[in-house]
Amino acid sequence: MTDTFSLASRFGTQGLGGCYAPETLMQPLLDLEAAFRSALADPAFQAELKGELRHFVGRPTPLTPAPRLAAKLGLRALFLKREDLTHTGAHKINNALAQAILARRMGKTEIIAETGAGQHGVATAAACARLGLDCTVYMGVTDMARQAPNVARMRLFGTKVVPVEAGQGTLKEAVNEALRAWAGRCDKAHYILGSALGPHPFPTLVRSFQTVIGEEARAQALEQSGALPEVVLACAGGGSNGLGLLVPFLGDAVRRVAVEAGGHGQALGEHAARLDGGRMGVLHGCKTLLLQDDDGHTAETASISAGLDYPALGPELAALALDGQVEVRRASDEEALMGARLLCEAEGILPALESSHALALLPGLATEGAATVLLGLSGRGDKDLSTYQSRLGI
Ligand SMILES: *Cc1c(COP(=O)(O)O)cnc(C)c1O
Repeated sequence: MTDTFSLASRFGTQGLGGCYAPETLMQPLLDLEAAFRSALADPAFQAELKGELRHFVGRPTPLTPAPRLAAKLGLRALFLKREDLTHTGAHKINNALAQAILARRMGKTEIIAETGAGQHGVATAAACARLGLDCTVYMGVTDMARQAPNVARMRLFGTKVVPVEAGQGTLKEAVNEALRAWAGRCDKAHYILGSALGPHPFPTLVRSFQTVIGEEARAQALEQSGALPEVVLACAGGGSNGLGLLVPFLGDAVRRVAVEAGGHGQALGEHAARLDGGRMGVLHGCKTLLLQDDDGHTAETASISAGLDYPALGPELAALALDGQVEVRRASDEEALMGARLLCEAEGILPALESSHALALLPGLATEGAATVLLGLSGRGDKDLSTYQSRLGI
């Protein structure tokens, strides 16, 4: 089935990715791939996307030097790529907006999406309001409880939020429901997937719409400091902000690092660290590194951050890791809280819990001898205030 597609549908030497989708979704996926390819080649699409990224999203986002935190850690220089300053407060809007423009171009009038942390749901809801598209977002009940402000934001933007009770009530179950809903309405609806996951062409599509992060950051680093950093670092849930930041640095002599959720323990079910905890498997349409039990059932995961709490690593990031292009590390819940505190106190920036996992790696990188680091600050921490309050006792 892969040779039906002309965009890369498999990644790395082990051929991760692919298109493991039910028959009902094959035609919509083929249509999406064709529309994506024609949009990429169309200057009108590119111009509209560029204009919206600039005037609605707020791009380019700054590359902020963090000299006080660098000095505290013993780094020569630290730069933060500020996706937290985008409209709706995380990198998710880059992809949501681009896919919404693509959907309208395809003549779709409805958008279906899923959300974990709620950031992708909010970004999609905002993009749909902006473009005049109907929007339905599927969200696990556990996530709805821990991300209540984002549920309210989506509803204010006119989006219907559908609670998903199944399983743990988190992202995995929400994706199942969203895919099911799409299969039933794909003549009118486009499914905006929120990370570099799912059946082809989604991983490639999402990564393409996120590489603006790394392209900007690379140019800004050269302009502001005259050199590339030694280490480029991002957190990894499905992998979209990580790929977005790291892929434009693939040809450079820099260390590329992605950080997964180490949760609160090493045992299966206590973390979402897929690289050393996972095995090859298929989930939600693609083959990749997946946390699973001995019988091959998808394992439960745990993380203080909803956005990293997913059993599969996106196939392209997993392939880059397995092929030695990207180092994958983990940070625990406690370490992430420490990382957040460091940034808050030294620089006056409140990071999302997801981004705090990348921050948590900084002391270790400094100890390993790194001197200059560029860190992807994927989102802002306002949505996580209640967790910070209860866990940090403030
Ligand atoms: C969703 C999210 C993530 C994780 O998703 P990726 O696809 O791995 O980027 C990280 N940070 C924030 C702020 C998020 O909202």
